[in-house]
This record gives sequence, C-alpha cells and structure tokens, in this order.
Amino acid sequence: MQYYSLQKQSPNVDFRTAAITGQAPDKGLYFPIEIPKFTAAQIENFKTLDKASLAFEVMRPYVGGTIDDATLKNICAETINFDFPLVPITDTISSLELFHGPTLAFKDVGARFMSRCLGYFSKQARSENAAANNHNTEATKPSTVLVATSGDTGGAVANGFLGVAGVDVIILYPKGKVSPIQELQLTTLGLNITALEVDGSFDDCQAIVKEAFMDGELNAAYNLTSANSINVARWLPQQLYYFFAWQQWVAKYQDAVGNYPPMNIVVPSGNFGNICAGMIAKASGLPLGHFVAACNSNDVVTRYMATEKYEVKPSVVTISNAMDVGNPSNFIRILEMMQNNFTSLSNALTSYSITDADTKATIARVYKTNNYILDPHGAVAFIAAELFLSEQQVNNKTISSTEDAFNAGAIILETAHPVKFPEVVEEAIGQALTIPDSVQDLFEKEKVSIPLEPNYTAFKNWMLNK
Ligand SMILES: *Cc1c(COP(=O)(O)O)cnc(C)c1O
Repeated sequence: MQYYSLQKQSPNVDFRTAAITGQAPDKGLYFPIEIPKFTAAQIENFKTLDKASLAFEVMRPYVGGTIDDATLKNICAETINFDFPLVPITDTISSLELFHGPTLAFKDVGARFMSRCLGYFSKQARSENAAANNHNTEATKPSTVLVATSGDTGGAVANGFLGVAGVDVIILYPKGKVSPIQELQLTTLGLNITALEVDGSFDDCQAIVKEAFMDGELNAAYNLTSANSINVARWLPQQLYYFFAWQQWVAKYQDAVGNYPPMNIVVPSGNFGNICAGMIAKASGLPLGHFVAACNSNDVVTRYMATEKYEVKPSVVTISNAMDVGNPSNFIRILEMMQNNFTSLSNALTSYSITDADTKATIARVYKTNNYILDPHGAVAFIAAELFLSEQQVNNKTISSTEDAFNAGAIILETAHPVKFPEVVEEAIGQALTIPDSVQDLFEKEKVSIPLEPNYTAFKNWMLNK
C-alpha cells in the first residue's frame, strides 16, 4: 500500500514513511492510493471473528508489508485489548462505549497502535544500523513525539508510548485548563514521558508545537514527530471499533436469512479523524448505515453541509471541549473520499451542531429517563441521533430495503468517560460520579510537570538545554 499527499506535490510513500513523518513534505495529509475492498465472504467471516484477528485482517492491507505479520498481530492484539460494548440507551439509540481503554478515551486505540508501530520502526532502524556497522547517528537518534493537548490526546498518547524504547514524548498542556484526571494522566507516568505545563491556552501550546516542526535547528537536534490524528498510524486504526460495533449489531438484529437493519452511526466530531475512519471502513465494504457528524457550536462542517461554503472560524470554547476545532484537519480526507462531489457527500453524511445548553439538559434528561450517564461529547451525539431519527421518520426515508419494518435505529460513539468531565456532568445529574477502579491509583501518584512560559523561545531554550 502506498500513500499520496493530498497536496499532490510530494512523492508517494509506504506506511512506514507516512507513520514516521506524519505529514508529507508539501504539508499535505497522506491518503491511501486505494481503499482495500473486502469480499462478501470476508465480511461474512468478520461477523464472528475474534477482535484481535479482525483487527489484524483490517489493518494488514494498510500496513502493506512494512511490519511482518507476527509483529503486526501482536500490535493489533495489544491495541484493542479492552472492551467496546454496545449498550442500549433507548429503544432506538445505543451507545458504543469507547472509554474502557487505559485513559478512558477512544483516542487510546489510535495512540496505542501508532506508538507500537513507531517503536517497531525505531528498533528496526537501530538494528539495521548496527548490522551495517554504521555509525550513522541520524538513523539512531531517538524519535521525539511532540503533542499539544486540550486534555484527551495527551493522556492517550503518553500512555500509548510509555516505555517504548527509542521514542521520547513531550506533552504541552494548558495550566489549569484540563480536568484533574486528565492532568494526572499526563503528569504521573515518568520514564520517557515529559509534561510541560504551559502558563497559557491550548492555542499557545499548539502554536509552540507548530513552530517547533518548522525550526531547522531543533529538527537537526531531534527527530521530531507529531502524534495527532493526521498521522495515518493514529487515524486508520480508529476504523476498528466500527467493525466491533457492527459485529454486535449483527449478533443482535440479524434475522434467519441474514438481513439486519442498517446501523446508522453518530460520531461526536472535532477534527473529523474518527468519523473519516468510519467512512473508510464503509468504503472497504463493511455494511454500515448513514453517518452523522455531531458537532458543538464549532459548526464549520454543519454550515458547509447546508450551504456548500467552507468558512473557517476561530474555535469557540464549549463544554465538549475536545471538539472545539475551528478548522477540522481531517475533513479534507472526507472530501477526497467523496471525490469532492457534494451530492455524494450529502448522501453519505449529515451534520448537526448542538448548543451547550442543550448538551447539559440532555445529560440530565437521559440520566433521569434512561438511567444512563452521558459525557458532554456523547450528549452532543445523542441529540444529533434524535434529530436524525426524527427527520428519517418525517421524510419517511428508507436507507435500505430491509429497513421497512424497522424503526430505524442509530448508535452513538461515547468517546470519553463522563468522569473526565466531572464539573459539567455532576452538575447536570445532581450527584457525584464514581471513579472507575482502573484510574483510582492515579490519585496516589505524584504529579510531575515542568512549568513553561507560553512562548516559543522559552520552549526552544528548554529543549536545547535539557
Ligand atoms: C478527540 C475527541 C473527539 C473528536 O474526535 P475527532 O476525531 O477529532 O473528530 C470527540 N470526543 C472526545 C472525547 C475526544 O477526545
């Protein structure tokens, strides 16, 4: 499998190069030259395959031989080594809980896969270098992953890379602007993980990271890599949980002749990496229903779907802050998949934008009515699911012929555990949340972070003198 740059000004590369460099030299995002197509027989087999084998079958074509099968099998098995349950909330809406990983966020899947791939490539480079008896320090310089985080990304990346030889991770987070659990997840790991506590905003953190990637002097001293969702090694494995959801959907709804209602999917979206991965899964033959992008007041895509005009706006702060994105970096990949055809896009994707007031009210209502605790991102998706299903009924749209007798249903992706957003959720449900056992021990660990002024000079001085 080769990957091309969406800017079309750089040569095609294999998975290894795309994963190591993150972005093409022309600053374009990498995209697979073809989306693998699974046969009907393979899809049938996927219905009952165990998660690890399924993950291996799905990822293998994308990795395209740059990692041997035995290693890739291990990487896949470790990546998805937790539960992805599909839990009913109402008669028509179920929650795909993606928060059972080590940092309670769906980003664990992408981060765990990417970290293991980079660890493998780094080891490979070191042993090739040693075999050639070559003192080429360029190839053996450790990779340094730089991440700016508003909360969830940093924890997932740090956890994914913890202890991976040959890779150092530096996380920049805004002081006082991440939740207590999120901060502990960033600052208590040690080893190859360093947390910089920036006395500024998330935008300050991101600006420092962007400048670092363009700084020749710093790049000469370190192999800098980004771990955000533009990296194919983080982006593509996100399609796995659409396969896991579909397995559970089929097991529940399939009739005697193998028919089942379409599984419509509502994805809380910020940078649109997750939903784009789901659409890739569908393009490769997985029989999924319609996709709904659930956004907060950062509504550039919702407005685009209504007007066909793409107008970037500065991001606004909301209570579903992992989706506070003014210019979603992965949307261009969705456009590419749809061959930039607006009609195809409209047939494949619907988008809604939800206010903070509605989000809070919905957390309260769903808890009261259905005894289910949504986090703010899942609540945005829940409202979008209700809007989508009611419009389906009004328009009497049928998405497929098997649907007639079925009151179309949808799944929402619950992208984070509610306990990561305690202020909002506890106020909405009127009671304290229980901290899951898996993160209980965080509270006994000591926070270690390095304070940093919110400017590039301070960061660069620290990097060059550490
Ligand atoms: C990152 C994140 C999102 C948005 O995912 P994208 O792939 O950027 O669209 C949604 N919810 C939570 C909790 C997140 O951490």
